[in-house]
Amino acid sequence: ISNQGGNGVCVYQSEMNADALLRLELSHDLRQAAEQNELLIYYQPKINLINGNLIGAEALVRWQHPQHGMISPAEFIPLAEETGSIGRIGEWILRAACARNRQWQTEGYPPQSIAVNLSARQFNRELPKQVAQILRDTGLEAKYLELEITEGIAMSVDSSIDIMRQLRELGVKLAIDDFGTGFSSLTYLKQFPIQTLKIDQSFVKQLEHSLSDRAIVRSIIELGHHLELDIVAEGVETVEQKQMLEEYRCDTMQGYLFSRPVPADEYEKFLITPSPG
Ligand code: C2E
Ligand code: CA
Ligand code: CA
Ligand code: CA
Repeated sequence: ISNQGGNGVCVYQSEMNADALLRLELSHDLRQAAEQNELLIYYQPKINLINGNLIGAEALVRWQHPQHGMISPAEFIPLAEETGSIGRIGEWILRAACARNRQWQTEGYPPQSIAVNLSARQFNRELPKQVAQILRDTGLEAKYLELEITEGIAMSVDSSIDIMRQLRELGVKLAIDDFGTGFSSLTYLKQFPIQTLKIDQSFVKQLEHSLSDRAIVRSIIELGHHLELDIVAEGVETVEQKQMLEEYRCDTMQGYLFSRPVPADEYEKFLITPSPG
């Protein structure tokens, strides 16, 4: 009898491909990843294009899996969304980034804003309450937290403008991420209570070689400025791209040209030396 059972499992496994098995294992492990200290937050500097100053960072999560090594968020965030772990993971990321930012301030580093990405599933009516609680718990002032929301998320949730307004009332800053890749109409853009537009890196990548991408980037910058938004270009890898963005009056850049996302202790090196005492 036990033999039969064993065979059953074998047949089942051979029918599943290795990829599906890995996903199953990872989605199981994900439920514990935060509690077992396997999630890490990397920070990627954002640089003011006018004076070259560091103005803050984007928090980007990584998963240090005990057997499978470093796993990219592009892989495990969608999995966490499908399996429902995203609620806990998203809250952990927000809390960890706010706590770290607050800690830098108490250590005497100049205050700066840290941006955190939100997944679609986090962007619900409970979010403003959750954010308020995390700010209270960590002692971070709301103005030092920025939330990055993709166009897709902002457009797909009925109550999104309401949720954004509540977050704004707390004092949190809002950015539209991957701008240009979604389908947000300009009418929406006008209604969103946001402060920042992030130009998607797909447009920045071809800046030197594509006339149409240049036109798109220039137009986004111009449009954003008319709406009094700060414009961040992401994925800046070359000096030529940086120079074009300067010429187009883009406000902020982020990309490998200045730095990859780095662990917190490495990021500290970009912050100026703490004031003594
Ligand atoms: P994103 O929000 O658009 O983040 C930018 C991605 O571009 C990051 O990839 C970053 O490492 C990468 N990048 C930055 N500069 C350059 C560059 O110069 N060249 C190139 N080729 N890439 C650059 P990463 O960290 O792998 O994150 C991928 C995506 O995963 C993010 O895209 C975001 O959608 C998601 N993600 C990351 N962290 C979180 C998180 O904490 N929560 C949620 N919900 N999603 C996250
Ligand atoms: Ca495992
Ligand atoms: Ca982002
Ligand atoms: Ca982006």
